[in-house]
Amino acid sequence: MTSYDDADPVIFPAGAATQTSAAQAASEEWDAVIVGGGMAGSIVAEQLSQSGHKVLIVEAGPGKDLDLAEYESYLSRFYGAVVKDNQSPYPFNPNARMPRSTDTMPVGPDTPRDDFYLVQEDKYCSDTTFTRVLGGTSMHWEGKALRMLPEDFDLRTKYGQGLNWPLSYDDLEPYYRQAEAELGVSAEVEDQAYLGMHFPEGYVFPMHRMPPSYLDQTVARGVDGMRVNLADDDYTLRVRSFPQARNGVPNAAYDGGKGFVPVGAVSTSQVEEGERCQGNTNCVPICPVQAKYHAGKTLTKALSRGNVTIVTQAVASKVEIDEQDRRVTGITIKNYHSLDSESYDTYTVKGTVYVLCAHAIENARLMLASDMQRMSRSKLIGCNLMDHAYLLSWGLLPEPAGTMRGTSCTSGITDLRGGRFRGTQAGFGVDIHNDGWGWATGSPYTDLVELVDKQGLNGKELRRTLGNRISRQLLLAFMIDLLPERSNTVTVDERYKDALGNLKPVVSLKIPPYTMRGAAYARKLASDIFKRLGAEEMTAYDKDRYSAVEHDGQWYNIVGGNHLAGTHIMGTDPTTSVVDHTQQSWDHDNLYLVGPGSLPSIGTSNISLTMAALAYRSSTHIVRYLRAAKAPATVRG
Ligand SMILES: Cc1cc2nc3c(=O)[nH]c(=O)nc-3n(C[C@H](O)[C@H](O)[C@H](O)COP(=O)(O)OP(=O)(O)OC[C@H]3O[C@@H](n4cnc5c(N)ncnc54)[C@H](O)[C@@H]3O)c2cc1C
Ligand code: SF4
Repeated sequence: MTSYDDADPVIFPAGAATQTSAAQAASEEWDAVIVGGGMAGSIVAEQLSQSGHKVLIVEAGPGKDLDLAEYESYLSRFYGAVVKDNQSPYPFNPNARMPRSTDTMPVGPDTPRDDFYLVQEDKYCSDTTFTRVLGGTSMHWEGKALRMLPEDFDLRTKYGQGLNWPLSYDDLEPYYRQAEAELGVSAEVEDQAYLGMHFPEGYVFPMHRMPPSYLDQTVARGVDGMRVNLADDDYTLRVRSFPQARNGVPNAAYDGGKGFVPVGAVSTSQVEEGERCQGNTNCVPICPVQAKYHAGKTLTKALSRGNVTIVTQAVASKVEIDEQDRRVTGITIKNYHSLDSESYDTYTVKGTVYVLCAHAIENARLMLASDMQRMSRSKLIGCNLMDHAYLLSWGLLPEPAGTMRGTSCTSGITDLRGGRFRGTQAGFGVDIHNDGWGWATGSPYTDLVELVDKQGLNGKELRRTLGNRISRQLLLAFMIDLLPERSNTVTVDERYKDALGNLKPVVSLKIPPYTMRGAAYARKLASDIFKRLGAEEMTAYDKDRYSAVEHDGQWYNIVGGNHLAGTHIMGTDPTTSVVDHTQQSWDHDNLYLVGPGSLPSIGTSNISLTMAALAYRSSTHIVRYLRAAKAPATVRG
């Protein structure tokens, strides 16, 4: 076993982060084997470590990511990258590939290609991504941390759409608070108590809200008080601040007056670096100062306790099952030797309980590659794939509004997240993007190309024109609900394998009419808002793009929300769901599937806070399971 020391500092040196070799990991017996060191895996590991359990984390990504030098190498790679997409900070790894939006294209059965990870055979393809490095997708997530609405938990009963959850908002509420503490959420209760969301008396968020950007304030001047009518109900719109998992100013009233201490980065250049967000709009794909939460913060706590160990460069490749009693007997890993080599050794690691936290696509891919659908009573592994459908609308404001300052997104419009109209069309939230048209057009790089190459500008004139154009950009991103549909799937196919011979995920995600009705309404709303702001409409959709969707004779581009979920949904019945309300598999007693794959619906909030709250809730059940494991009885519920 090796440990980091002062010469090889961890980002948050609360203790030594211990790693083990795959051979050593396979020779020991663990209380819990967790697959994946992202947000979900880190939370479960940290919680089990508090209860004194011996935990192994199996991580597909390379191994020095907790090291400050490694983090800084991500930054250097990002700064030097010509195409700055979500994955540009992270090294290319043929052994644990990840999807890139730049790779998105339909792949036909007769056109085998190797330069992509997600196989998508349909005309419509999603450019959604996730990351396979230690810390997982939280390394490049944006950090918006909204709760789901109470009505999201019983959409079927209320509006006849989607599925009900086996839990209510109130069941999850204490775990939301636990997640808000761990992620370090900056927000005010008075901003967030809308559409039925409620908080215990006296609750305050760990940190005060991020200040609204000048762009937010500009949009608010046009939007606040705007009235719309949907399904015979009137709604009054306003711009509202979003809860953010990034360091703001700590709220002295937090935790009954004890206050909150933000977790920042240890830096050689600035002592307090990362203890406050510096507002440089770089949150996706990486925060230079680690003011934004990433799972390394939780993982470091877990690893420093001494009873959690990690094995990296270890791709979980098969879940081993006892055919008689259906219990999991081990996880077979392929331990590759380096990023430059496809050679690997195979080991099987063993524990009392197994927790798959490899994210919605990878959890399903791993289970399907392990032939677990055969034993599943619901046959729903990999089905009900969900992701928010994003419709982008962009316009040019009449005056400079300070675009490209602040975090990626500080505020938005949330009034149409819920309401009776959800009986016929999808609800949505609206993000006001402080980073301009980047997502829609590739700004500011594309603006620069246009001004230099097409308009021949240079020097002072170029700087003036570029500044004027960029600071007037307004991008509204509508995050639209997409309900669970059995036909939206992750599957595997023997024809598509990665460098280690593991089956690649085959994704089929169609945007249903319910969602498109929401998108069509969103498009109209965006135009109305632009008019109120005096903004020039610049939105243009391309019907030949992979993201094109036709609805009522109009073409739209629907881009991936990066909120993948639903591939092992939770429910009350083993024939209609894959896990129960504790995320314990219905079919394999000592298996928990923890992560967004368990969400039976995604509503209109970014999914990770809810996923984190569920991870805390499940951890208490896993601890109970482990305690009871010494006795013969099975724990469920
Ligand atoms: C650009 C972008 C922006 C986002 N913004 C937001 C936001 O603002 N708010 C929000 O709520 N959510 C956001 N998300 C979504 C959020 O990042 C994810 O929901 C969340 O990180 C999922 O956490 P997880 O632990 O389930 O999975 P991950 O974070 O993906 O972690 C999975 C881990 O498992 C490892 N792994 C994968 N396969 C294997 C294998 N076979 N063997 C071993 N290890 C494996 C991976 O390397 C990784 O460490 C965003 C996502 C993206 C891509
Ligand atoms: S705005 Fe900058 S400092 Fe703040 S969270 Fe985003 S990247 Fe980090």
